[in-house]
Amino acid sequence: MNKINKVLIANRGEIALRILRACKELGIKTVAVYSTADKDLKHVRLADEAVCIGPPASTDSYLNIPALIAVAEITHTDAIHPGYGFLSESADFAQRVEESGFIFIGPRAENIRMMGDKVEAIKAMQNSDVPCVPGSDGALGDNDQENIAMANKIGLPIIIKASGGGGGRGMQVVENSADLLGAIELAKSEGLNFFGNAQVYMEKFLTTPRHIEIQILADEYGNAVHLGERDCSMQRRHQKVVEEAPAPGITPKLRAKIGNICAEACKTINYRGAGTFEFLFENDEFYFIEMNTRVQVEHPITEMITGVDIVREQIMIADGQKLSFTQNDVQIKGFALECRINAEDPNNFMPSPGKITQFHTAGGMGVRVDSHIYNGYSVPPHYDSMIGKLITFADTRLGAIIKMQNALDEMVIDGIKTNIPLQERIMGDKTFRKGGMNIHYLEKMLLGAC
Ligand code: ADP
Repeated sequence: MNKINKVLIANRGEIALRILRACKELGIKTVAVYSTADKDLKHVRLADEAVCIGPPASTDSYLNIPALIAVAEITHTDAIHPGYGFLSESADFAQRVEESGFIFIGPRAENIRMMGDKVEAIKAMQNSDVPCVPGSDGALGDNDQENIAMANKIGLPIIIKASGGGGGRGMQVVENSADLLGAIELAKSEGLNFFGNAQVYMEKFLTTPRHIEIQILADEYGNAVHLGERDCSMQRRHQKVVEEAPAPGITPKLRAKIGNICAEACKTINYRGAGTFEFLFENDEFYFIEMNTRVQVEHPITEMITGVDIVREQIMIADGQKLSFTQNDVQIKGFALECRINAEDPNNFMPSPGKITQFHTAGGMGVRVDSHIYNGYSVPPHYDSMIGKLITFADTRLGAIIKMQNALDEMVIDGIKTNIPLQERIMGDKTFRKGGMNIHYLEKMLLGAC
């Protein structure tokens, strides 16, 4: 490595362990930070150094920027990896890290800021020829008549979205023109209350899209590649439950076309690091909705079908190294599936924290388990309920599904409730087995409507 000899992992759970493993393989020392609820986390025990940064509430620990910078200083860290969630998409954090003399393992702060403002992001994408949802081409003004005329021009249904929105918040679907002005006001107040930004914009509402996203990697020197797509249409309340790669029905030609557009867009905006372009896909057309400027939960399925270690690449890029391969070197092989394993009741989705009294993991050829849990570990109630990810890889989609069924069946997690029974149900579902479901399918399946 050129500049990075020690990395502070500003996260917890499975992704902290994932980052620690990548660092160890690269011969990089690690610093774990943890809240008082997390002293028993696996990566805390495995890290070279570990520092408690505060009480369980994330605002007092994993989101506490001064505490994180202070730990980086006292441990003589070179770089900070934010993982996903928490501060990973905070442009202010990225900026503070760099201003304090550390390397941020992620994009430049200005790119994070741009993508966090959806109106700005869409503008940048339109300038880079990335296909976007037909819409208002910018923030809505205060003129009611103009807004009504715009909705009529786009054609109902439409969706009003807060420019600063995230996590499915600040969105209003409008089916009848009589509801339009009220929906704009509601989206504005949600945007202001949750994200401190009252700007809203309008888009055509696509009724039966799939969620397909493109993984990209870009270095400091203007090189950018795409690693193909993932299909994350199996969602409940906008939360992804199962992800797969490649996406059923996407031809190599279509993949190359949209993938190259994304890689070129990275060059245009001077993007650095790993990132994901999220699209809605309907009638064979891609429509950009947002860019995630960080590693994603579902990155392992792309790793399995391309052989590229995305977290390792993130660290090498931050170290100032050139991408060691070109687009032509990226070959997609086989099929990978990921089931998110959550500590929750599979029937009512209530979180189920507590002590794991028995844990037997799954294994075998083509089975990967990314999880921090172990026998006797207590899942704290303060954080996201995801406790791991089960990933399978096979020559075909059906092969990966069958491996997943067996792996879910093998996995024993006692003491807490998990969504494993739900994942087993999905794997056995006839429509899921056909592939190509839209983003509403899982919720319909859960209602028993399918
Ligand atoms: P967030 O940042 O809150 O996740 P996104 O823009 O990614 O917001 O949208 C979240 C989800 O909302 C999408 O995955 C999709 O289900 C739905 N959605 C967003 N825009 C549209 C649209 N134009 N048409 C249909 N559904 C949409």
